Amino acid sequence: TERTLVLVKPDAVERGLTGEILRRVEAKGYRLVAAELRTADDALLAAHYAEHEGKPFYAPLVDFMRSGPVLAVVAEGQRVIEGFRALAGTTDPTGAAPGTIRGDLGRDWGLAVQQNLVHGSDSPESAAREIGLWFPGL
Ligand code: ATP
Repeated sequence: TERTLVLVKPDAVERGLTGEILRRVEAKGYRLVAAELRTADDALLAAHYAEHEGKPFYAPLVDFMRSGPVLAVVAEGQRVIEGFRALAGTTDPTGAAPGTIRGDLGRDWGLAVQQNLVHGSDSPESAAREIGLWFPGL
């Protein structure tokens, strides 16, 4: 089986959507193998978002991600990387399909693409790298 890193971003934690998001992950049949609520520091976020460094949205994204606690979760299951991204929906909540986390719960506050509730690893390589960053002991 496969593992992925899920982040319940600060907007979702602030809005009290943590339980609803984890409910969907578990209802799909994925198993939670680690979870920690923490406020990420700059070094962790710089490593996590290294691929976006230099892009115009990078600094605001890092500011947003350290604006409050994030629930970091490792979820496990058959094809969980692809499966969680399907649960999450497309990056922009306005266009995300109903039935997805972003489609059902995401809002456009003018920062919708940034404040899109969740992150999920996009490949086995990203998952291994990101799990290593957020859960060095795993
Ligand atoms: P995630 O990796 O968080 O699941 P994603 O893979 O759909 O989302 P990426 O393209 O990897 O999106 O971008 C990472 C994050 O950066 C997005 O989830 C979003 O929070 C933010 N982001 C991406 N594009 C933009 C943009 N154009 N403006 C503002 N923020 C953005």
